[in-house]
Amino acid sequence: MKQVLFNFTDKELEDFIINFGQPKFRAKQIKEWLNRGAPNFSVMKNLPETLRNQLNDICETLPVKIIKKLVSSDNQTTKFLLELFDGEQIECVLMRTTYGNSICVSSQAGCAMGCKFCASTLLGLKRNLTINEMFAQVLTAQWELRQDVFNNIKPNGDSNNNDVSHIVVMGTGEPLQNTQNVFGFLEKANHDLNISWRRITVSTCGIVPGIKELTNWGRPINLAISLHAPTDELRSQIMPINNKYKIHEMMDAAFEFSQTHNRQLMIEYILLGKKNENGETVIYNATEEHANKLSDLIQKHNVMVNLIPWNSVDERDFASLSGNAIHKFQDILINKGIHTRIRRERGADIGSACGQLRLKNKKEQSE
Ligand code: SAH
Repeated sequence: MKQVLFNFTDKELEDFIINFGQPKFRAKQIKEWLNRGAPNFSVMKNLPETLRNQLNDICETLPVKIIKKLVSSDNQTTKFLLELFDGEQIECVLMRTTYGNSICVSSQAGCAMGCKFCASTLLGLKRNLTINEMFAQVLTAQWELRQDVFNNIKPNGDSNNNDVSHIVVMGTGEPLQNTQNVFGFLEKANHDLNISWRRITVSTCGIVPGIKELTNWGRPINLAISLHAPTDELRSQIMPINNKYKIHEMMDAAFEFSQTHNRQLMIEYILLGKKNENGETVIYNATEEHANKLSDLIQKHNVMVNLIPWNSVDERDFASLSGNAIHKFQDILINKGIHTRIRRERGADIGSACGQLRLKNKKEQSE
């Protein structure tokens, strides 16, 4: 197995370089490249070529290796399929938006949560990601952004920089099942990359003890709750976690978090349909009654509801709703004074939704 230099301490890196018969200052040069997210040693142009080749043979730079890179037709979304040291694969997505550059980070390889609409959980949970495996996803995006000038990708709208500015822990996995590493990763991102707490969002399916840990951790980040259904009966049908933590208990913990930090709570709500016997799509969780119940749950609180069009997953027995149905649902919420927006589908053309790329690649490998 190749050694990963990003995982070395400064001292370890220095010793390694000296053992290589190289002067000590090379360690510092390499460290700078690593911190910029260099994907291999060939790009380290201030090192002698023989050293670059030797290092490529026996080491990796980062603990994640790019297996596939997909760019959306508008060039604004880049999705990476990454391989870890043990062969596990994860995904992360870079989104260039008008407010900045946001990266969606995976917190686990696979997922144990079993949500019925999601692709990430289909193969179960493999393991938690380490601090460096999460941090290296951000560095990979950061490196990509720095290449934009060479690739002729212009900054989007008003945003005029090529730094990662926002982190959303909304990729594969349940971050609140891996709290210590997620907190460690976010501390590092805040400290080393200067990403402010307010530009960080953690999304959970509702692990109540984890939400409490988040509150105790005390950092004023944003919390997103994957609600997706307004009653326990319906939610338990699509999200097994609801059998353990009921909606009210989860929402109380979430409100407590957002009140502690005076932050707006984000509610994620996927709009799901189902096919009936005639092959027509019928609404599953987005009728007027559902909208009313949803508004009862959150009224009087500082909440934003993010309505998410379902990205279809072949293995899953749901259907996407029409734009009309989504807007109708949104209108009911707006009339009740609820702050809502419809999530723009980014990179739908590159399978940017939740674990699809990893799943597809696994299937291809086993064929
Ligand atoms: N486990 C965490 C974070 C990962 S999932 C959580 O549940 O919040 C990130 C978000 O994507 C969640 O809101 C999840 O419900 C949603 N999601 C999963 N599959 C989806 C799909 N096929 N289409 C749209 N959103 C999906």
